[in-house]
Amino acid sequence: MPKVMLTPLGVVLPTAAQTAFKLLSVNDATGQLFLHPDHTYTAQLSIDMDDGQTIVVPAWRVQYSNARGPYKGGIRFHSDVDLAEVTTLAGLMAFKTAVANIPLGGSKGGVRIDGRTLSATERERVARAYIRAFGQCLGPTRDIPAPDINTDSATMGWMLDEYERMVGFSSPGVITGKPLSLFGSQGRNSATSLGGKYVLDKLLDHLNIKKHPLTVAIQGVGNVGGGLARLLSEDSRYRVIAISDTHSAVYHQTGLDILDVLQHKEKTGSVENAEYTHNLTNSELLALPVDILVLAALENQVTAVNQKEVQAKIVLELANHPVTSEADELLSQRDIVVVPDILANIGGVVVSYFEWVQNQQNFYWSESDIQVRLRQIIYTAFADVAQASATHNVDFRTGAYIVGATRLLTAMRLRGVIH
Ligand code: NAD
Repeated sequence: MPKVMLTPLGVVLPTAAQTAFKLLSVNDATGQLFLHPDHTYTAQLSIDMDDGQTIVVPAWRVQYSNARGPYKGGIRFHSDVDLAEVTTLAGLMAFKTAVANIPLGGSKGGVRIDGRTLSATERERVARAYIRAFGQCLGPTRDIPAPDINTDSATMGWMLDEYERMVGFSSPGVITGKPLSLFGSQGRNSATSLGGKYVLDKLLDHLNIKKHPLTVAIQGVGNVGGGLARLLSEDSRYRVIAISDTHSAVYHQTGLDILDVLQHKEKTGSVENAEYTHNLTNSELLALPVDILVLAALENQVTAVNQKEVQAKIVLELANHPVTSEADELLSQRDIVVVPDILANIGGVVVSYFEWVQNQQNFYWSESDIQVRLRQIIYTAFADVAQASATHNVDFRTGAYIVGATRLLTAMRLRGVIH
């Protein structure tokens, strides 16, 4: 569909994307289309807080591309979120859905509010206000939100309810990541971790790594990092020796008892001082001499400055954009294999796609159906990226952008948007 409403704010894509565009001979005009979203919506949300105050906070919905299907992307409630961040994340989503080869586009939403400090009633008011502001541009064949930082399945349930009140009919496919009892999907909570594990398994085959167990350090013990730690601890090929949260990291040379560490975190709010572990700082975790470093916390964690400390041979990006473009090039020069976010963390959006398909059909699948289909999509995406990297003699990130951009360009050409 034609790109309309160009805004001054563009998408900040990594250097690897620019390299991919050059290799694909993307001309300047098409490059401009790639760097700008289709639509940018802004609103001010008025929220009544529990203490009687009313606050007004900015909120955004950015729709980057629907060339390959309805816009798709999460909504975050975070005090640092701004239009530039939402725009870039909307762009990343379009490349992710293209790499996964699922029939969806890319979008993203955000509210500038500290989601961690909201009570459940305040969070519900923010969720409903967001839908009242942006509901007109959402819909199961238009734009489908999902959870992101500080939003969860309960938030999605309130958003669904508000949307259905607005349109006056049942429409479960308008949003994904819903509670299971409200048309959610089996396997959604663990999807990103499981997808990351499938990518890692495939990578070991691809690199012909026979050594085991491989030592693993994981930055971030949330939904994604904690979930992967649990999965890896059940597989004898891996040994998780360190994991961190905002406060601290914990380490044990012969392997952590992950269930113990997760229970300790549940009880105390942090992994710090978990039994039979040593505390480390987060910077010490990043510098451990492990085989695999998993980044599952925030963006911009490995930079041009601290990349020198990284000793891992493989870096898996489960968070979005945790390695800066400058660091990426330097890691590559040191022969460290970085598995990029737009491949490593697609499990979440793939199972979101399954949830949407189930909602549209009103027919629900078992967890094993979900896992089999997820594995198939991830293995194919990995093979496509590996092949593009080999053909063009580039790293995995550039390979992934080649795959994503090729699919987006093909759809745009077939629609007549570009020639
Ligand atoms: P989460 O909030 O559940 O967990 C984040 C974890 O990171 C927490 O344990 C937190 O303590 C830790 N953390 C925060 N700052 C840190 C720091 N400086 N050092 C070490 N640890 C730190 O979030 P999540 O759902 O697990 O998502 C993690 C990342 O993965 C985010 O970047 C998110 O955008 C990305 N992601 C998530 C999904 C998904 O399905 N949840 C899908 C794709 C990408």
